[in-house]
Amino acid sequence: MNTRTTINFEQLPQDFKDRVTRAIERLNANGIILWRPWIEDDELLKYFTVSVVDGSIGCTNEQCNHNSHDPASPTIKLIPKDGSLVYMGEVFHGDLRREYYLLLTEKEAIYLEVVKEPNYYDKVFIVDGEKVPDFMFAQLDVVG
Ligand SMILES: [Zn+2]
Repeated sequence: MNTRTTINFEQLPQDFKDRVTRAIERLNANGIILWRPWIEDDELLKYFTVSVVDGSIGCTNEQCNHNSHDPASPTIKLIPKDGSLVYMGEVFHGDLRREYYLLLTEKEAIYLEVVKEPNYYDKVFIVDGEKVPDFMFAQLDVVG
């Protein structure tokens, strides 16, 4: 039997309502979407909140050594705690894709490189601005 309870939002505890609101805000927020379980880099965690935005996909075979791929993982999103996140563009080297982002706060410009390779977890690094391809700066819409 498949029953679905209708929840009357009016009668719920405030902390639960806040949690639902926060979850929806994070799902809709601008961010960097990655297929990997989590973020371990403390510097990244200083600038971004990690939100798990989708269920797991990938290999779940317990007999598998995952030699040619990474095991199943959910999809996460890095949401800036402060400032605005700008997608700068991407370049390809065969199967390897590198995406660049710029996090602009009032005090600093932080550059991020996302490395995507089929069947392996996405990687994300804070990089020096010199690593970002020059043509991406020329394409930015800068006003004022
Ligand atoms: Zn496997």
